[in-house]
Order: sequence, then structure tokens, then C-alpha cells
Amino acid sequence: MTHPQSVNLVWFRNDLRVKDNSALAAALTEKKPIIAAFFICEPQWQLHGWGRLKTQFVMAHAHKLSESLKEKGIGLIVRSVKSFALCGQELLKICENYNCVKIFANREYEWDERSRDIQVTQQFKGTTITTHWFDDGLVVAPGEILTKSGDYFKKFTPFKRAWFEKANIHAIKPISQNRSIYDTSAQSELDILSNSNYSLEQWPIGEKAAQKILSHFIKNKIKQYDIQRDLPYEEGTSRISPYLSAGILGIREIFWQILRHHKIINEGIEVWVSELIWREFYKHIVFGFPHVCKNRPFDLTTEAVPWRHAPEEYEAWCKGQTGYPIVDAGMRQLNQEGWMHNRLRMICASFLAKHLLIDWRLGEAYFAKQLIDFDFAANNGGWQWSASTGTDAMPYFRIFNPILQGKKFDKEAEYIKHYVPELQPLKASDIYKIHLHPKNNYFHPIVQLEEGRDRCLLAFKQR
Ligand code: FAD
Repeated sequence: MTHPQSVNLVWFRNDLRVKDNSALAAALTEKKPIIAAFFICEPQWQLHGWGRLKTQFVMAHAHKLSESLKEKGIGLIVRSVKSFALCGQELLKICENYNCVKIFANREYEWDERSRDIQVTQQFKGTTITTHWFDDGLVVAPGEILTKSGDYFKKFTPFKRAWFEKANIHAIKPISQNRSIYDTSAQSELDILSNSNYSLEQWPIGEKAAQKILSHFIKNKIKQYDIQRDLPYEEGTSRISPYLSAGILGIREIFWQILRHHKIINEGIEVWVSELIWREFYKHIVFGFPHVCKNRPFDLTTEAVPWRHAPEEYEAWCKGQTGYPIVDAGMRQLNQEGWMHNRLRMICASFLAKHLLIDWRLGEAYFAKQLIDFDFAANNGGWQWSASTGTDAMPYFRIFNPILQGKKFDKEAEYIKHYVPELQPLKASDIYKIHLHPKNNYFHPIVQLEEGRDRCLLAFKQR
């Protein structure tokens, strides 16, 4: 039976929040009842490399979103859809069923997501239903800043300069909503979400929980971020990445919180803001250079690098059994917690792509599967930076030495001892020599650092 009164539809995707949400706020300005929709696209998510944790985290948040929407009188309709290509048909069915006249959604910038939205727009062209798209996930949307010659930026520093000129950070505010209560007769359909089995205490569910983590960091930690951010055993970073990557936190809200609590921008705050701009930079990269979404390196000359086929070494890396304690600690943190400190992400990625000369895309896929904060643009950007195949990447001849990195950032081997407990009885100085004289039944090094380094330099030079 068709709904008698016409309604508007908000289609939630990577923006599972009520606060600071452009599409929802725009729908709320209209004088019509609202219904909401969310599609579980598991086969497509798997194709994109999502693992169990990210999937559960998103499903649990969709459930939470339905509760928040219900408080406003908005029902969330949840459907399982096999692929992005079928989203249009499913939307059409919902629109017919509920007599929807407008669809509101926030844009996503990766290739498959963009293609899906183009297809949806085409599908509704010529019908009485209109589609309305919003830039929401970034302070500065792709295309809003370009180089003088009209291209997308390839270098971070000029991008950052242009970003600051455009963003006017003192004026950033969360999107306000001018109606708080909403009434529709659509009932939330949640059975499909109820078996998400989420049980990770360190990443609590909900917008409020995410806000709490954010404000704890902004009030107590941000000022020391520049000093603490590279020390993996300290809680020196914000740990908001799972929330930001699934859209549980809005980006405007984050900037607004910083400026509400700190009148003066010190070095710590500046460095943290810079990281948020790296996030935006990589989103602009996937938009401006979509070949990176198609399993290709940004720098196409690196397609000629003869990556090694070395499944046993790859497996040892995945398991944290390389014989290099700092690498092993990082990989074990990833495997145990679904999250890894940024310094470790760089060390582990460099070790795989450079010392082992294994195709960075295998590492990218492994991270994607394990990370609760998996975000295609940030993961791809981070991997390509580490493997020297990307935009503004580390030069190929800069190869992180895992021993020196460990001594510098985990001097007393506290982080290592936490994740590699078999090394707890040893002194830090012995831990940093263990690759020379393996003991305590610890793994033999799977590569000699000098050999790996020379092999990598040669491979890149000869490409
Ligand atoms: P903070 O240091 O507190 O930074 C705040 C926020 O800024 C982060 O939550 C994140 O949204 C953003 N950010 C920080 N550093 C970067 C960066 N280098 N690139 C892009 N955004 C950044 N981040 C993800 O969100 N998802 C990923 O899948 C991901 N994969 C990565 C893979 C590799 C190989 C590397 C080197 C980095 C990757 N990063 C990824 C970036 C970074 O490691 C994480 O964002 C960060 O460790 C998350 O912890 P945090 O929230 O405490 O970060």
C-alpha cells in the first residue's frame, strides 16, 4: 500500500550520525516528514576489503543510528543489497512504497561510490523523485581547491596552504538542525542488524561515546600531540580514526571543538590539524586520480618494480613473526586490536614493501581486512607513501631501518614488550640486537637488513 502523505528520504552511508550531518540537516529544513534508509552491502564491502571488525563496527553504529533517529520520530529502513549496482533499484522500491519525493545523501569520493551515485542520479532522472547530494565529510571538498593550472594537487605542502586559504578555520561550525522532532509512520526495521555481535570495549558505540573520546583528547592531550604522537606506548594520539572513517564524528564538529577549547593554536594543535588535512589530501587524491582506486599505483612508473613472490615471508609479516621486534609488535597490535599506531603503520608498511620487496597492495589488503578504522583513501595513501609509489611519497631510497626506528621511538622497548611478551625478560639493548643473535626462542630474521635494502634500491633503480 502506498503511503498517503509524501515524504523525503535521507540515505545514510558513510555518515552514520545525527549531529553535524549535511544531508539530514537539509532534509530537516523541508516541511515534510522524513524516512531514512541504510543498505547493508556486505558482498560489496568484502570486495572493497573490509574485514570483520570494520563490518561489525558499522553495523553496530547503524543500529545505534536507528535509535537516535527514532527519538526524533524518524524510522530507519534497513535492507541487504548485494552490490552498489542494486542500490538504485532498492531506493526506487522504498520510494514507491513510502511515496518519497526527494532523496538526500552525502557524497563519497572513492570511484565505486561515485559511480553508484551517478547511476542513482541517472535512474531518477525524468521521474518525479529528485536526488540531492551534499559535500559533508571534508572541510574542503574535492574540486574546491585546485592548482593554478586547474589540476588536483599532487604535493601536500601547497595543498595545505590552499586548504587553509579556503577553509577559514575560525568560521567552521557544526551544521545546525532547525527541527528537533520529526514524525513519520515508517517503522524502523532492525532485525537485520540485530546479530552484529559487536563486543569491543575499547571502541564504544555511538556518537556520544565518540564525542567523549574526542573531547578528552582536545581538552587533555592535543597540546602535547607534537611531542607524544610518535611514541607508540603513550596514549598520545586521539584514537578517533574508527569514528571519523565511518562518519560517526563530523569533521566540522572536530574543528569547532578545537577552537572552542583553545584560543591559541600551539605547535601541538597545529600538528594535529595537519594530520586532519592529510586525511583531506588523500580524499582529494582518490577523487582527482581515480586510477588509485583501481589497484594501480599513483606513480605508474612503479608498475615496473619487480615485486617478489614470497608467500612465506608475507605470512610471517602478517603474523608478526619477522624476527624484527618492532615490526612484530606492530603487526601483533593490529591482529589483536584491529588498530595500529601510525608510527608502526609506517614502519611495518616500509618493511614489507622495501626490505621484503613484496607488493604493497598485499599489505594494503591485509591492513584493510584487519583495521577497524579502515578507510580506503587513508590506507591507500599511507601504503603508497610508504612504498614510494604514491603522490608526495617518501623517496624510494629512504628506507626505514626497523632497529633505528625502534630505538628512537620505543627506547625502553615498552611497546615491544607489551605486544611481544616472549621478549619481556630481556633488556631493551638486547631486544635491539636480537636479530643478530636470536635467543629466547625468538624468530630468526626473515631478511638481513642490508641485503633487503640493496635489493630494493636496485629494483627501484632498474624500473
Ligand atoms: P591522530 O594522530 O589523532 O590523527 C587524527 C586523525 O587524522 C586520524 O583519526 C585520521 O582521521 C587523520 N589522520 C592522521 N594521520 C593520517 C594520515 N597519515 N593519513 C590520513 N589521515 C590521517 N587512517 C585511517 O583512518 N584509516 C586507514 O585505513 C589508515 N591506514 C593507514 C595505512 C598506513 C600504511 C599508514 C602509514 C597510515 C594509515 N592511516 C589510516 C593513517 C593513520 O595511521 C591513522 O589515521 C591514525 O593512526 C589513526 O589514529 P588516531 O585517530 O589516533 O590519529
